[in-house]
Amino acid sequence: MSAVLVVNSGSSSIKYQVIHAESGERLADGLVERIGESSQGRIEHRAEKRVERELAIPDHTVGFAEMVAAFAEAGAPIESLDISAVGHRVVHGGSEFIAPTLIDDRVAERILALAELAPLHNPGHHAAIVAARATFPELPHIAVFDTAFHQSMPESAYTYAIAPEVAAKHGVRRYGFHGISHAVVSRRAAEHLGKPVESLKQIVLHLGNGASMCAIDGGESVDTSMGLTPLEGLVMGTRSGDIDPGVIFHLLRRGETVDSIDTLLNKRSGFLGFTGSNDFRDVREAAARGDHDAKLAIDVYVHRARHYLGAYLAVLRGADTIVFTAGLGENAPDLRARVCAGFEWCGIHIDPELNEAPDRGARVISTADSTVTVLVVPTDEETEIARQTIATV
Ligand code: ADP
Repeated sequence: MSAVLVVNSGSSSIKYQVIHAESGERLADGLVERIGESSQGRIEHRAEKRVERELAIPDHTVGFAEMVAAFAEAGAPIESLDISAVGHRVVHGGSEFIAPTLIDDRVAERILALAELAPLHNPGHHAAIVAARATFPELPHIAVFDTAFHQSMPESAYTYAIAPEVAAKHGVRRYGFHGISHAVVSRRAAEHLGKPVESLKQIVLHLGNGASMCAIDGGESVDTSMGLTPLEGLVMGTRSGDIDPGVIFHLLRRGETVDSIDTLLNKRSGFLGFTGSNDFRDVREAAARGDHDAKLAIDVYVHRARHYLGAYLAVLRGADTIVFTAGLGENAPDLRARVCAGFEWCGIHIDPELNEAPDRGARVISTADSTVTVLVVPTDEETEIARQTIATV
């Protein structure tokens, strides 16, 4: 038996899972949080036994040491799990990382250099990679990039209409994100239908706190709604999504600063901006009570998603499947129904009973005579990282 340690790290946290390579079974998982912060750090480890502790965690190296200690304390030391590789989730791989990559010193440095494009994510990934390589020097470490899946986009889809020399100088182009999720969800949708992924045109809606859509032709991303950063596209929990860039100049001229606008659009917009909560359940409840802004938030959300659905039907010249995933995509049938309503003219027919059914696994929610098959498929980014890690090793 062999297993993969999957690491999803931020600047102040390490989320991890140990996943059995063949069966995909989860052998343990946990979270180290508040790394380097003035308040006490915390580790929570879940295996057969649960371990929880608060203690000072000054950096990622101590974080990994505590993780190893937690495995032992829970009765299954990490050495006993026969881990054969470590898979690191990395948000931004720029244009140079188009596939999962074995990490050496140079690759680690490049991931840090890409912090220019992902200042909130890549420095934390880099710190965790350095610490993990020191903790497990005998294991291969693989970086699995959120952007890599979208490197198949044609130039027409990833290019912004600005002077090419300016774009090249600053790395300005559309990269797209959530690629690990779009990849696993589109493959599982094909598996569920018993068809090769290569034969399908698919539109995936990853609707979580962050949200993006992807047009997938034969298993390859040909367009996606996020761009240079994860700000472009759909309305999200705290992000505005698409906005006229002129809004930014307007706000600057009216006395806002670069940082205040960055915070506004990334952290104080979307559902949170409209209602004070980034959680769709709260927004829905407020809308049901008659709150105007909450109703408007959902209307804008649905309008934007439908805008992209129409766009991707055009990009793909029709679709075989529409696939909903992530927090809202998997759990909000009302939203799914509204996004798909009125598309009957192009063969999209939701079955209200299937859509409302409280099932959890991959399932079809369209009628038997719907030309386009609509599915709900739970996302599973960790298992996909483990799969790509094994494939690379
Ligand atoms: P992240 O992008 O952080 O991984 P998730 O994919 O877990 O987020 O999605 C989280 C969001 O999903 C929540 O903020 C909430 O808006 C929505 N959500 C979760 N459960 C439900 C539910 N039962 N009904 C409606 N919305 C839900």
